Amino acid sequence: MSHIRVAVVGAGPAGIYVADALMRKLPQVQVDLIDQLPTPLGLLRGGVAPDHQATKSIARQFERVLGKEGVRFLGNVAIGRDASYAELKSIYDVVVITIGAMIDRRMDIPGEDLPGVYGSGAFVAWYNGLPAARDLDPLLDVGSVAIVGNGNVALDIARLLGKTEGELASSDLCGHARAKLADASLSDIWLIGRRGPLDAGFSPAELGEMGELSRVAIMVDGTQLPAQVPDSLPEERRRIVEKNLALLHGFAARSEPRPIRLHFLFYAAPLAVLGEGRARRLILERTRVDNGRALMTGETFEISVDTVITAIGYRSRPFPGLPFDDRQGIVINQEGRVEPGVYAAGWCKRGPKGVIPANRTDSLAVAELIIQDVATGSGSGKPGGMELDRLLAQRDARVVDFAGWQKINAAEVARGAAQQRPREKFTRIEELLAAAVS
Ligand code: NAP
Repeated sequence: MSHIRVAVVGAGPAGIYVADALMRKLPQVQVDLIDQLPTPLGLLRGGVAPDHQATKSIARQFERVLGKEGVRFLGNVAIGRDASYAELKSIYDVVVITIGAMIDRRMDIPGEDLPGVYGSGAFVAWYNGLPAARDLDPLLDVGSVAIVGNGNVALDIARLLGKTEGELASSDLCGHARAKLADASLSDIWLIGRRGPLDAGFSPAELGEMGELSRVAIMVDGTQLPAQVPDSLPEERRRIVEKNLALLHGFAARSEPRPIRLHFLFYAAPLAVLGEGRARRLILERTRVDNGRALMTGETFEISVDTVITAIGYRSRPFPGLPFDDRQGIVINQEGRVEPGVYAAGWCKRGPKGVIPANRTDSLAVAELIIQDVATGSGSGKPGGMELDRLLAQRDARVVDFAGWQKINAAEVARGAAQQRPREKFTRIEELLAAAVS
């Protein structure tokens, strides 16, 4: 069999898992992992909470894949800007789309575009130092922040807002975000779920962490908590919900005066954000849950807020030509097959659900499809990476390779070590490109 030339677009967990699986199973494969950022690791670098360093330790495994013979990292290469999707398809035998999903879904309510309202995609990208969000400069000179959504992203944000500087000392939270959070004078954080405690997407470990924050008093209305979890829930889900419910009951029983109050507000759907020139009030409607669905009751109320952060899910951002389902915000695919020779994996394939290990399972399944599809034929004689290199050179693209990323990585770790932190990221494209050639 001659060489199979594969381009993977998106060097995050999903893309790296696909590359790894193909390298292990196809004898003659060459994989180019392409990313629009000068840095690989996708969500692991730009999404995972900076105080969850244990989760980030998987980076070492990803680095080994990126360093394999037969794998190349091409960073700072944006499809749609430096090369087109059509060009990729003509150059490579197989193209795998693993571009993730970081565009915020909208609530579609009045006032959503007021200053002081942010999507979690933008907010998380800001504190994690993604260059595109570096200048978000969120309004955090505030008393009250509402976080809409009852998933783990909402908990990540509430936890970071609630932690003291000391509690963030061992994180790799970026300097600009540390400074801003240190200046914030929060009194109230609202975590708003449109359904009830049994429906929340919280993981018990993440929910439990909320109870460990030294300056945060947790406020839960015990009357919103059922005594028990219904038998009808499937076993796996039931175990999670039971743990969450026990934690919430524990929080409801506590009463401790502390500087920040974290309110779990269930059965409340946002109707509008109001304010002159910036968000000041969040109007909500009480809901009740019937058969798993939130139904409006007609009863409205409001809370005073200064900042609203929505953590209600994400969409992918397609590049021109990519078959895209605009309603769902994902790449159109059948179990990972997009069109002949093109595949999708990860959040851009199945939506923004699941932790990093879930992406591994998904990526392995897509790699198996690719292997099945190419097993019958041989490489088609397409030119592969050499041709992409030629195009990129012609277009003066400033490509960051794996060695360049290693330099960025070493420089960031050294900057962090000087402050007893795991890393201090570069947050501007020019800084990253300079570090890559230092
Ligand atoms: P998620 O778990 O799906 O939570 C999204 C939340 O937004 C849900 O509570 C949903 O309510 C709510 N929502 C959606 N549209 C809404 C609207 N229009 N108005 C009000 N609420 C709305 O997603 P996520 O928190 O973004 O996390 C994404 C994935 O990453 C999840 O699988 C999560 O577990 C994972 N993750 C894991 C970790 C970790 O393990 N530490 C950290 C971060 C993220 P409904 O349920 O009613 O739709």
